[in-house]
Amino acid sequence: MEEDNIYDDDISKLPGVGPATAEKLRDSGYVDILSIAVSSPSELADAAEIGESTASKIILNARKQADIGGFETGKTLLEKRAKIGRLTSGSKTFDELLGGGFESQAIIELFGEYGSGKTQIAHQLCVVVQLPEEKGGLNGHAFYIDTENTFRPERIIQMAEAYDLDPDETLSKIHVARAYNSSHQMLLVDKVRELSKEVPARLLVVDSLTAHFRAEYVGRGALADRQQKLNKHMHDLLRWSDLNNGVVCVTNQVAAKPDAFFGDPTRPIGGHIVGHTATFRIYLRKSKGPKRIARLIDSPHLPEGEAVFTITDKGIRD
Ligand code: ADP
Ligand code: MG
Repeated sequence: MEEDNIYDDDISKLPGVGPATAEKLRDSGYVDILSIAVSSPSELADAAEIGESTASKIILNARKQADIGGFETGKTLLEKRAKIGRLTSGSKTFDELLGGGFESQAIIELFGEYGSGKTQIAHQLCVVVQLPEEKGGLNGHAFYIDTENTFRPERIIQMAEAYDLDPDETLSKIHVARAYNSSHQMLLVDKVRELSKEVPARLLVVDSLTAHFRAEYVGRGALADRQQKLNKHMHDLLRWSDLNNGVVCVTNQVAAKPDAFFGDPTRPIGGHIVGHTATFRIYLRKSKGPKRIARLIDSPHLPEGEAVFTITDKGIRD
């Protein structure tokens, strides 16, 4: 039952919400049913230019339909966590930093400056996810939402050959879409959710999570709107990882040098919204030549630490 309305998130389907009201609500940032369910009658009345009693009725209907999440026993949660799979990064020390690899039922955020290895790791995961579990894979397909046009099939071929995988077959299990702007990027997650009914996918990459948002929502006035959209996007991704027992890997670029305007370079954009929804945050930085340093930040159950790895022609290695 819960799964039926999980994705039926069209606010215009709420009793009491006509097309005009739906549009006003969306313009004010009420993009899903949950956002209405947790609002107050006066807020909603203002946003949609309707009376407070109508707003109250809409909120009641939204509460009935909203996926506010139920309670589960610790036992059920433990059973669910027992199914968590782990993807190898290709580097033993990197895997150890993550407690055995990239976890499923989780979002992993890779943030770092240009050239720090975010896209290389994302490519590597698309290959290893296809390996059987005993070899560090999850025996599944990959989806790749590419916002910067940096997906390279040639690179996949190199990495696949290093694992003795058939390059053509490997490429045929990676489903790539170019996202042209942030709305398109969010729509593509809906598409992935649809396709996942047919495609046995265990990995979803969004590279880059934040570039379009950063370019489109400029200035202080746009901040609240941007954070609200990013919040919804992150929650859509988290749901996908939950329902498919999959790994979600998102990338986030930060400036290389301190910047008088943007401040702390190690602060990725999206701030607390992205940070709190991501299960693991990994800060990547350059070291000598092909060496890179990964630092685990704010993990719910692993100690903070660092791992040194190398970007080679074969992919990520120790
Ligand atoms: P970003 O964090 O900006 O996404 P990338 O993942 O694109 O960074 O990393 C780029 C780095 O990967 C470059 O330093 C480059 O040297 C290295 N790299 C890319 N392709 C190869 C390859 N075929 N062999 C070795 N190193 C590579
Ligand atoms: Mg990149």
